Amino acid sequence: MSSPDRYAVFGSPIKHSKSPKIHKLFAEQTKQSMEYTAQEVPAEAFKMAVSSFFKAGGKGLNCTLPLKELAWAYADNSTDRADLSKAVNTLILQEDGSVLGDNTDGCGLVRDLTLNNKINIKGSRILILGAGGACRGIIAPLLELAPHHMVLANRTVQKSSDLAAEFCIFGDIEGCGFADLKRQQFDLIINATSASLNDQTPPLPENILAEDGVCYDLAYGNRPTSFVLWGMDHHAKKSLDGLGMLVEQAAEAFFTWRKARPKTKPVIDALNALRRFN
Ligand code: NDP
Repeated sequence: MSSPDRYAVFGSPIKHSKSPKIHKLFAEQTKQSMEYTAQEVPAEAFKMAVSSFFKAGGKGLNCTLPLKELAWAYADNSTDRADLSKAVNTLILQEDGSVLGDNTDGCGLVRDLTLNNKINIKGSRILILGAGGACRGIIAPLLELAPHHMVLANRTVQKSSDLAAEFCIFGDIEGCGFADLKRQQFDLIINATSASLNDQTPPLPENILAEDGVCYDLAYGNRPTSFVLWGMDHHAKKSLDGLGMLVEQAAEAFFTWRKARPKTKPVIDALNALRRFN
């Protein structure tokens, strides 16, 4: 019997990654012969670690913090969505031995919002907090769904203004600082800052969330994040964290490797059952 195909996630820190569990459940569900491990790889060891992995017969990798930009630079070729985000979270060994880079984060968010949570994007007013790597990956896929307009608000205002200028070909988008968010209301507020990781929430005006508005934090944990709690306190119709996005981006990566699309709901349910809330 041939040995299972090898996949892995590289990152630092990686100890608490849920990706091995997610891909194990996907593989069982779709009856794929594969193994998926998590490997601690700091930025300075990235190139060597990736080359060794593929030389030893590895078929595909996920890359997470702080390696996504390095993975984009490493790939021999990359998809349009990876080039737009200038970041790669999925490396795929091609038949000719070259390595293709892809970014499945934006697609993962859109699938979680629209398919799992039935949130309507078309015609909606969207606020994204943050202007870092994750923000870059989600702007174009959201603008492609034709929201009314999108505002990016970031602590460092220059970064949100620059991103808005770069993505304005995709739709109505404006960049600003938190203090500029005075009289506007939004149907969907997405927290793409890493503030939740320190139990902080960007400063937002009291009435910024429209009636029946939705809050979504890209961050996730075993407890509701500070932004999920902010959404609950401000009567959001739904206040969600990024666990669904995590599973959806993994499913898209799995699909690029195995050409089999796993069902995500049972996996999201299984991970939610391990948390103290859902
Ligand atoms: P980056 O480090 O690239 O960007 C961080 C952003 O957060 C910057 O805009 C930064 O502002 C802002 N920020 C940091 N601290 C604060 C604070 N205290 N108050 C206000 N703004 C703050 O991170 P990423 O973009 O890669 O990741 C952002 C979040 O998204 C993380 O929580 C990450 O875990 C999550 N994520 C989740 C995924 C999922 O599958 N669910 C996938 C990818 C990311 P400034 O520019 O001023 O420094």
